[in-house]
Amino acid sequence: MSTRGNRRANQGILFVLSGPSGAGKGTVCTALMRRELGLHLSISVTTRTPRNGEVDGVNYFFRDKAEFERMIEADELLEWAKVYDNYYGTPKDFVASRLAMGYDVFLEIDIQGAMQVKRRFADGVFLFLVPPSPTELQARILGRGSETEETFQLRFGAAHQELQQMREYDYVIVNDEVEHACNRIESIIEAEHCSVKRNLHLLEHW
Ligand code: 5GP
Repeated sequence: MSTRGNRRANQGILFVLSGPSGAGKGTVCTALMRRELGLHLSISVTTRTPRNGEVDGVNYFFRDKAEFERMIEADELLEWAKVYDNYYGTPKDFVASRLAMGYDVFLEIDIQGAMQVKRRFADGVFLFLVPPSPTELQARILGRGSETEETFQLRFGAAHQELQQMREYDYVIVNDEVEHACNRIESIIEAEHCSVKRNLHLLEHW
């Protein structure tokens, strides 16, 4: 076993970022990955059609419903959920293998999925990203330009409900500015690596 500062080479931490629709999970996640903190981002499988510019194997693994159902049957998914009529899931092997190799793994998933992961990985760190205000949330959902009145109502209503799930999480991050939100997450990652429960191995040297 080797360590670097408070980082233990054979013990990665699972970080799960979720939050209500329109909180800005995708944007924060992209900005965080640019910081090259050594996080291994899990790429989800989805049955939804790619948006402009999205690439299979980069943004998602885009698969049809039959293939998604096969993956569920074969127990290849750590969690999965139906979000606005499409299926999304996290490939199990990637998460397990990277954690075992000592890498921190980062999931950006919806709340239903995060709660499933929490049942399996009690040791994971669960981050809840929230928009700064309802007005800001409304502006963000509409700003995507991909919403009809119906899907807007669906997303806005769902977000209100989803906010109540905050209590299930370890940390809440207000996404007022993307870089500020990333700073907060970066601090949490460092703090988790310094937590006593993850550093009891240090006593073995004394
Ligand atoms: P979008 O279609 O906008 O990329 O994502 C829609 C929602 O699905 C977002 O809330 C996103 O966090 C969530 N999502 C993406 N990947 C997964 C996944 O693997 N599992 C679950 N449960 N949700 C996911």
